This record gives sequence, C-alpha cells and structure tokens, in this order.
Amino acid sequence: MKITVIGCAGSFAGPDSPASSYLVEAPFEGGTFRLLLDVGSGSFGALQRHVDPVLIDAISISHLHPDHCFDISGHYVFRKYHPSGQLPQIPVLAPEGADWHLSNAYGTTAPNGMTLPFNFLHHIDGQTTTLGPFAIESKLVSHPVPTFAVKISTADASLVYSGDTGPMDSLADFVRGTDAFLCEASFVESAENPPHLHLTGAEAGAIARDADVPLLLVTHIPSWTDRAEVQRDVESTFSGESVLVSQGDSFDI
Ligand SMILES: [Zn+2]
Ligand SMILES: [Zn+2]
Repeated sequence: MKITVIGCAGSFAGPDSPASSYLVEAPFEGGTFRLLLDVGSGSFGALQRHVDPVLIDAISISHLHPDHCFDISGHYVFRKYHPSGQLPQIPVLAPEGADWHLSNAYGTTAPNGMTLPFNFLHHIDGQTTTLGPFAIESKLVSHPVPTFAVKISTADASLVYSGDTGPMDSLADFVRGTDAFLCEASFVESAENPPHLHLTGAEAGAIARDADVPLLLVTHIPSWTDRAEVQRDVESTFSGESVLVSQGDSFDI
C-alpha cells in the first residue's frame, strides 16, 4: 500500500500543511482503491493537488475534533453538487453520531443530513470493517472524545494510524507485527503536558520500540512546536527508522 500525507499539522491547519489527512492506496479489482484517513481542516484543497476527489472510494474519521473531520464539508458539496451529477455514495467509517455532528457543523437543514453522499458506518472497539482491499480494525484510544486508532491491513502490508491519543499500555500490542506506525506526537518532553490527550515524541518512540515496528512516521506536530525538539524526543526512545512527515510526503509500505 502507498500512503501520501495530505495534511499533518497538529490541532489546526498550519502555514505549511493542512490538518490531518492521509491518502492510503492499494490495488483492488484491477484498479486502485483510495481511502482517506481523516479529513481535517484545509485538507480538501491539498487533496486536489494529488488526486481528483471523484476517485476517493472511502473515508475513515478517527474522531470528531475539527482538525480530523471538518473538511468532510468540502467532500459533501463536491459529491452532492458535482457538475457531472451527484456522485455515488461512499462509506464513511466514523465514531457513532458523526452523521448528526457533521451535518450540524455544515449547517444542512436537509432531513437526511449528510447521508445522500455518504453511508456512515461506526467504529466499534475491537471490530474489523472491510473497505475495498483494506481490513480496518478499530481501537478506542485515550482522548477527551471517542477516538479510534486503526490498523489497516491488506494481503501484503499493514499500517497503524494512532489518531489522537495519550499514552496507553495496549498500543504497542496493537502495533506489533505491522509494517509502519503513523503516530501523533503533539507534545514535547520539556513541557508540562495534561494527561489523556496527546503523546510526546519520546512516548511515540517508546510505543514503536516496544512494538518493534520497522518504520515510525511521526505526525500531528502543531505549528508552534519546534520539530527538531520532537525529533530529539523520538530518538531518545527509538533507534529504528523514523520520519517526521511533511505535507506531500509519500511512503510505499
Ligand atoms: Zn488532532
Ligand atoms: Zn483530537
């Protein structure tokens, strides 16, 4: 599978990147299946530099903070009012209540809210959902609103995306045996950090170390944070291959 960073700015869109969104592609039925992991603020614009949004087959939303979900509004308008006619419904795997929450955020008064372009499916802790070539296992993580990490597997490769999470003992078990770990590192070790919210680079690195994962992709760094400090934090606990991702990066996994 191939993953392309559409947006990786932590907590809000930054000057160099939209907020969280990742395009994951894999072969399927003679073509390519395209899954978006999160659709954070500003990401719909950057997405169009990489792929025509017509070609998006499914969306997975980790949680309902705006830096992970608000650009569903762009996808909604694009699919409902496309000049070639309304586009086919696509699945959106999201926390329960997402259809109501996102319809309200958009301001739609239609009785069926956002359900014309989207078929909302719910993350359930421990449950696997199949979308195209991807088996997607959902894991409830540690964040102030219901938030799900996902383990995405094809016949050839596997990837875990942390969503937003604080430290959690069971995360390393969830990541173990996969090929790459796309993990948030919003905090730095030198600050006083609130609990149950986000990870530092050192905490992300410790999960990657304990899981023995070959590639750590570090993301969700806010624009007010010194990336070099995050890199040092990561390297304080993880000696394997790690990359602080940037908008436009892509990785074959
Ligand atoms: Zn976030
Ligand atoms: Zn969040």
